[in-house]
Amino acid sequence: MAKKFFIKTYGCQMNVHDSEYMAALLKGMGYIPTTSKEEADIILLNTCTVRKKPEQKAYSFLGRLKYQKRHRPLIIGVGGCLAQQQGELLLKRMPHIDFVFGTHQIYRLPEIISKLNKKGKVCETNFSYQLEPPKGVIPTFNKFRAYITIMQGCNNFCTYCIVPYVRGREVSRRSESILEEAKRLLDMGVKEIILLGQNVNSYGKDRREEISFAELIRRVGNLPKLRRLRFLTSHPKDLTLDLIKTFKEVGTLCEQIHLPVQCGSNRILKKMNRRYSREDYLKKIEMLRKVCPEIAITTDIIVGFPGETEKDFKQTISLLQEVSFDDIFAFKYSDRPPAKAVGFKEKIGEEIKAERLAAVHEVQAPITKAKNREKVGQRLEVLLDDYSKRGEMGLSGRTRCNRVVNVRAEASLLGHLVEVEIDEALSHSLRGRIIKVLD
Ligand code: SF4
Repeated sequence: MAKKFFIKTYGCQMNVHDSEYMAALLKGMGYIPTTSKEEADIILLNTCTVRKKPEQKAYSFLGRLKYQKRHRPLIIGVGGCLAQQQGELLLKRMPHIDFVFGTHQIYRLPEIISKLNKKGKVCETNFSYQLEPPKGVIPTFNKFRAYITIMQGCNNFCTYCIVPYVRGREVSRRSESILEEAKRLLDMGVKEIILLGQNVNSYGKDRREEISFAELIRRVGNLPKLRRLRFLTSHPKDLTLDLIKTFKEVGTLCEQIHLPVQCGSNRILKKMNRRYSREDYLKKIEMLRKVCPEIAITTDIIVGFPGETEKDFKQTISLLQEVSFDDIFAFKYSDRPPAKAVGFKEKIGEEIKAERLAAVHEVQAPITKAKNREKVGQRLEVLLDDYSKRGEMGLSGRTRCNRVVNVRAEASLLGHLVEVEIDEALSHSLRGRIIKVLD
């Protein structure tokens, strides 16, 4: 009987995509996926340390596995940022873990697992930058929407962020290799590609001979068979006019951008080492909307950064009102050693952070709702790429502006682009009727 694997993922889209690779590699070793950890022969945990919560969740998940390990043969491996940061310490702290593999070791997973028999416990956390995925390994969680990691790491050292320490410095893949991977995915029937990186719009800056990110967008975006293109995540300081113009020039590039602002106070932005001001950010928003009036803009907000006064916080609130984002992801600041802000004085109390987080949501919720309501009555292109989580609806997909839409539809329409008339706006999704099939 084939052995089974279960992967639990915490954190960002980069981690989700890394888990897709882990799954593809395990399948290559003859394992089959299971949705039940109780019946898995191998359990992998792909961890995140960007915030305190996912880290705590990872520890508690690992703690619960101890019991299972006592009662049956089970291999437990931990990857991702926590694995990179803790390394051997993790094996010492939780002896029921069999192996730890860092953020640069994912493609070596089969080799690491095979070492277990010979060496017992294994810890591999070297920074080695194997950027090119192994040939023939194609992650296929979703057959119609695929991610391509175009670069690893980050050079920005925002003072609250641990990423440069656990993912290393920026290293871009070769554009030819990205284009080849994109063509392979399109030949397999993928219709939408999302280019991924911690800071995608600084793509190519570490390679003199490489093209810019805007040029990469043009080349990938003009590939025959591609219907949609997106990218994630952008740093406001690296969002050039050339890149902004691609929203107009490249027909496949969807009208959507995630542009983390973090806060609205120049004083705090400086302490965060974000290297743009509130005014710079607003200017970029203005340029984006001028070039592409229908663009949907989302952002990240951190409340309670050390030293954030009531006056600073009010500037974040006024920025939310001024920009009118389509949606936001807001978090309370937490210390992430060894990030620089850990050493900053004037830490904000948990109660104040919670109040500020609630205030941010209170301001944004009606804006998001109103933006969703604007869609009612409109006819929008939707790529039906999954079964709906709302059972009665059938299928779900995303608009070009990245909103989730549920429709009543037969499974045979899975993977098709359809035109949908929006009937109803909920807080985080839309519902509609299919008007016609577009492909
Ligand atoms: S840009 Fe800043 S927040 Fe984003 S990954 Fe790099 S250091 Fe972290």
